[in-house]
Formats: sequence, structure tokens, C-alpha cells
Amino acid sequence: RKGPPRKGRESYIPPLVKYFGYSGFREYQKEVIEKILLKRDCLVVMATGSGKSLCYQVPPLVVRKTGIVISPLIALMQDQVMSLKQRGIRAEFLGSAQMNPTVQPKAESGQFDILFMTPEKACLMPTSFWSNLLELGISMFAVDEAHCISEWGHDFRVEYKQLDRLRDILLDVPFVGLTATATAKVRTDIISSLKMKDPFVAIGSFDRRNLFYGVKSFSRGQSFINELVREISKLVPSSGSTIIYCTTIRDVEQIFRSLQETGIKVGIYHGQMDNKAREESHRLFIRDELHVMVATIAFGMGIDKPNIRQVIHYGCPKSLESYYQESGRCGRDGIASVCWLYYTRSDFAKAEFYCGESQTENQRRAVMDSLMAAQHYCLATTCRRKFLLDHFGEKYSADKCGNCDNCIVSKKERDMSREAFLLMACIQSCRGRWGLNMPIDILRGSRSKKISEAQFDKLPLHGLGKGYSSNWWKALATQLISYGYLMQTVSDIYVTVSVSPKGQQYLSSARPDYQPPLVLPVSSEMLD
Ligand code: ADP
Ligand code: ZN
Repeated sequence: RKGPPRKGRESYIPPLVKYFGYSGFREYQKEVIEKILLKRDCLVVMATGSGKSLCYQVPPLVVRKTGIVISPLIALMQDQVMSLKQRGIRAEFLGSAQMNPTVQPKAESGQFDILFMTPEKACLMPTSFWSNLLELGISMFAVDEAHCISEWGHDFRVEYKQLDRLRDILLDVPFVGLTATATAKVRTDIISSLKMKDPFVAIGSFDRRNLFYGVKSFSRGQSFINELVREISKLVPSSGSTIIYCTTIRDVEQIFRSLQETGIKVGIYHGQMDNKAREESHRLFIRDELHVMVATIAFGMGIDKPNIRQVIHYGCPKSLESYYQESGRCGRDGIASVCWLYYTRSDFAKAEFYCGESQTENQRRAVMDSLMAAQHYCLATTCRRKFLLDHFGEKYSADKCGNCDNCIVSKKERDMSREAFLLMACIQSCRGRWGLNMPIDILRGSRSKKISEAQFDKLPLHGLGKGYSSNWWKALATQLISYGYLMQTVSDIYVTVSVSPKGQQYLSSARPDYQPPLVLPVSSEMLD
């Protein structure tokens, strides 16, 4: 059935049924495919597992011209090529791992429906390759994981940045960016980096209703791990697989050993293992021969496994974008699944560490902002789902989702007017030049050198807050920030805290012996 594409609107229905056996489209798939067929540039922002790939799989089959798909990882391309071939689609990949010398000439003569390429390879191709292929026709140029192009993304890759050169060669070809990272900055960055012209932008919902979100504070170490191992051994293997993400390789190894000792079928995956060992681990996990995977975030893209029931974060991730992606690997089959995040306060002080590779001031600022958002998520006392969706710029109509820790545990509330007054007044006395530690140390009556040098020990407030731990005061500060009484300003790597206009108003209606009621939720850290 060669020849020009069928006219009429429904030309994409035959491939959908013939090759994929799907009965209909999911949200936005049809619209995006239609726009690509009309040669319009598209930006597709949809959650992991929502079916972005179909958007670039169908157009080449409709117009019967090669579609190019840029993808960051060889392993990811290999998986896709395999599953497309099984459906009878002519797919191949070009990249450093391609050992078959016939692939490139075949690609050049238009013999593939879908050709995957690494960004490096695409940029290194001779102009003649592109001009030959262009003569035969290129149905689309898709860039998967397109957030890698943005410095504001959580996974910036220099090679992606160079793809804009191809825009000038592939003038009439529609460019399609696909990503699961939704922040506005990243979105506009993709559009400008790929020099898209009036793109059709499809932003799907990021609400993963079948995922439960929960957060707890914890102390890193063997006794916590023992407890975790006990919990996990109750769950596996009957109820699907688990991924445990750690922030360091040391943590990965420690948890891996503990799970192994109990006889659980557990795998390990991190950046310092050689490729072969990593691939083996990945393969066994995908095939259900391992029930638990303990990994750093190196275990990432391309984990298209439907039955992951649980993703645990042992330590706070560096951004909400990465948290959303990592936790989003569970429950792809739509069945109820669980995401737990365990954090300690020291996780929040890792900005310097994450800034390590950043070169520009923008990159440093992006790292700081990201970590701050993750911190706020951990400390939030309101609905986690709403918090996440807000972060991605999506309106969540209800206040409670009923499927996160904060929604199902009814938090106690109490009047904290006295404590809130002390903290705000003390922060006011510090004149917004400090973070939280200084005012809290003052309230707790510290006589450190810093405090006496600034004569803060002479303040009438000095020592009035001895009754509570420093963590308790920090938890209160978090509440006051989230309710708008205090505000934080980030400069360089310092965060200063000051009293907001709303807080000023409260202070002005309060006196040392009387404060208007201020009822706040009691967060778990206030119970410690
Ligand atoms: P993403 O790239 O957005 O993470 P995928 O493209 O890998 O998501 O799709 C996730 C799953 O949904 C795949 O198993 C795919 O086969 C399935 N899928 C996609 N589109 C449809 C559809 N229209 N009908 C049924 N299943 C679909
Ligand atoms: Zn909720």
C-alpha cells in the first residue's frame, strides 16, 4: 500500500490498529499526530507513561517517510527498536553502539520507518546524509527527553544544545519536542533552543491518581535500614517490584547488602558499575527476576516496567522534577502504587554538592531553586498531590486528594500564637539578615560568640524559647512560611528569612502579653 498518504482526516487510524492494536487515542495523541502531519512543530509535555511515544511512532507510518527520533540513551533506543520491530515496524538506531555497518546506508536510502539517533550522532552526520534523506522525504524530527536541552532542566546535556544546527538543514521538517518535565522555563527553553516556529503545545495532566505520596523524616543508618528491610520483606514478591533510590553510592551498597542478607532477590545499580553489570541488573529487574532494585538516579530513563508497586527515596532528591520522574516509575499499569520519600534536614544543605558541575550563575541558581522546592515539598503539611501539581503549573481543583499522607492522616491543629509571635519578633530583630539558625539560637538562649558580638544576648527575647528544640522551631518556621507570615530570600547559596507584610500585620496587632489566635497544623516534626 505505497503511494501518497490517504487524504481525509482519519489517515492515522489504519496504522493505529494495524501496528499497535489500540482501539483509540489517549489524551492529546490524536491532536499531536494531526499537527505533525500538517508539518507543524509540536511541543509535547506529558507525564511519564502517558503515551508520548505514539505521537512520533504514527506519523512516519502514515506518510511512509522516515521519522528521526533523538534519544539520549543507547539502551533506551535498543528497547524501543526491539519492540517496534516486533510490531512489524522498520526501526533501527544509529549511535556509537551500532555495530552493523549496513544500517547507515539503509537509513540514508530511506529504508526505515523510524530511525533513532543519539544527539551526538545526529550532529556528526555528513550533510550529504541529510540531503539524500531529505530528497526522499523526512516525516518528522522528534527530540525525546527534550528537557535535556535546557539549562533549567534537571538533566542538562551539552550534546542536546547542538541540535539547533539541524534545524537549519531540515528546513521543512516538523520538529517535535517531547518531555515529562513541565516547568514553564524548561518549556520556553525547548521551544527557543529547537528554533520552533509557532509550535502546537500539548500539556497533559500530571496527576497520577493511582500513586500514593508520602513523606517522613528519618535518621540515616543501619537501624532505619533494618526497619525498611523488614517492611519490604513483608511486601515482595507477592505485590510487584520496588525501587529504592539513594543519594549516594555508599547508601546504595549498605541497603543492598542488608536486603541481600535476608534472601530477598535484590539488584544494585549505580554510575560506578561497569556497563555490563548495569545492563545485567536492569535486564533481570525488568524480567521480574529481581524484586527490589537499590540504585542511584543513574537507574533512570527507559524503565518501562508496568508493575513497579513502590518507589522509596532514601534521602531527599535534588528537585521535584526528578522526584516526580523517579517516583512516577511506579504504577504505570494504573494499579494503586506507593511513593515514600524519607528525608533528613542535612539533605537540604547539599546545594553546594549539587552545584558541583554547574558553570554559570544561572545554573547555580537553578540548582538552588530546585532543591528549595524539594525541601518545601518535604516539609509541607498540605496535600502532596496539590503541591506537586502546583509546582508544574497545573491547577488541582480540590484542596485534598485523599491519597497522600497529609490527606489521610488528620493533622492536629493548635493555637501557636505565643510561639509564632516570639519567632516572628525575633526574626524582625535580626532585620532579615540571617537564615533561621540565628533567630532560633537567640530564642533558645545561646551565648555563642556570634550572638554576643552582635549583642543579640541583650535582646528581651533572648532565651524565651528554651522550651522547644531547634528542629521544633524550624518546623514552626516552615508552617509560618507556608502560611505566608515569613518569607525566604535566596541569594547565592544563602537563604535569609524575614517577616512578610502579613506577618508584620500580625506583629502590629500583638503585644508581649497578648497575641491574637494563630492556629496552625502540628506537623510530625513538632511531635518528635
Ligand atoms: P511515555 O513515553 O509518555 O512515558 P509511553 O509512550 O512509553 O509513555 O507509553 C506508555 C504505555 O502506554 C505503553 O505501554 C504504551 O504501549 C501504552 N499506550 C500508549 N498509547 C496508547 C493508546 N492509545 N492505547 C493504549 N495504550 C497506549
Ligand atoms: Zn493529598
